[in-house]
Amino acid sequence: MSALALLGGSPLIDSDKPLIAPAWPPICETTAEKLKALYLSAQWSFNCPAEQTFARDFAAYHGADHGVFMVNGTVTLEAALAVCGVGPGDEVILPALTWPATAMAVHYVGATPVFADVEPSTLCLDPKRFEEAITPRTRAVIPVHLYGSTADLEAILAIARKHELYVIEDCAHMQGGKWAGKGVGSHGHIGSFSFQQSKTMASGEGGICLTRDPVLAEKLYRFKHIGYPDGSRQGQAATAPPAGLVCHNYRATGFQAVILSDQLTGLEALIARYNRGRAILAEALDPASGFRLQAPGRLASPQGFYGLAIFAEGDALTQLPRERWVEALVAEGFGGFGGSYGPVYRHLLYNMDPASYRLPEGGCPVAEDLGTARCLTLFHTWLGADETTLRTIAAVLNKVGTQAEALLEQPATSR
Ligand SMILES: *Cc1c(COP(=O)(O)O)cnc(C)c1O
Repeated sequence: MSALALLGGSPLIDSDKPLIAPAWPPICETTAEKLKALYLSAQWSFNCPAEQTFARDFAAYHGADHGVFMVNGTVTLEAALAVCGVGPGDEVILPALTWPATAMAVHYVGATPVFADVEPSTLCLDPKRFEEAITPRTRAVIPVHLYGSTADLEAILAIARKHELYVIEDCAHMQGGKWAGKGVGSHGHIGSFSFQQSKTMASGEGGICLTRDPVLAEKLYRFKHIGYPDGSRQGQAATAPPAGLVCHNYRATGFQAVILSDQLTGLEALIARYNRGRAILAEALDPASGFRLQAPGRLASPQGFYGLAIFAEGDALTQLPRERWVEALVAEGFGGFGGSYGPVYRHLLYNMDPASYRLPEGGCPVAEDLGTARCLTLFHTWLGADETTLRTIAAVLNKVGTQAEALLEQPATSR
């Protein structure tokens, strides 16, 4: 094997033959025709037939009875917390590693986010750390199914049941994923999904709450629809919303629903392709490289993906600063790896007063170290690439990982 490109060897991938991931978001001519038809029908919003069809089909796919379609996957989390009655004085436990929106939703309802550490295998909420964080003020937990794994729903649901807590699954990364044979988002009280344009189903903006509980479904519907009950025509609300439920206009439109209904048709095949892509990477990755892939959720099958986390754990890799081995990977000709979100409480966009949230004593070492300083992510589209591309990505990791010691010997040149 040639020397590392960073140290003067030849790169594994020729610069004139870069690897290419399938384009995202996906576009489709037949969907464009349907969008035109919807436009001409003038039935654009207010729970129009296109929205009803999508919400029903998406809920059914995931094993839930009700789907309430909204404008994004942040307000769906806010809605879920609000209809569960979470508010000022309450605490909500969530994993330290997630997109800041998960924590912001807790702030929106006036409650206190309580961060807990994640599992080293999955990067999802660690059930033990969750249980330790429970106080008499805890009202809810938000397990996040992160990148390419599903939180341990079995353990989390058992703990939540014991302490009578609401469980709101943040499934923004997990469209089409299943746990113990049943869709994510239908295991807890409410499941929240995002259809922002980078997600595995994408309509520019969009989100949905799933639930099996008809009372929560009715409240969710009113919450996003400025108080209207389901079935009312515009300007003709049949009944008032329940006292104390502060409702919003968080409606999406039929345009998003049309795009998503078409994507739902291909979701099972897409998820199968991503699982195959992960399996190819797993098989091609040399354990001696010191790189390890994020494990799928324990009972997840199929596993959904927003991406796949990859950990640098080898002796030499862990002695190097992250930038150094990332630089070595890029020098081999593959710039497709991304970083992790890092802990929410360190995120640039999370500008909340530290007095308004809580961390465990000793912080969240797994999220901070393994989940950030030693973590790469591969965006989901790469998992849909052809076998040669996937094997080449693994070869880049194998080359840098097995020769990482050479990077230790050779100090970084100043640039
Ligand atoms: C994308 C995302 C959200 C928020 O969804 P938006 O539709 O962008 O508002 C929430 N949680 C997680 C984990 C996400 O990745």
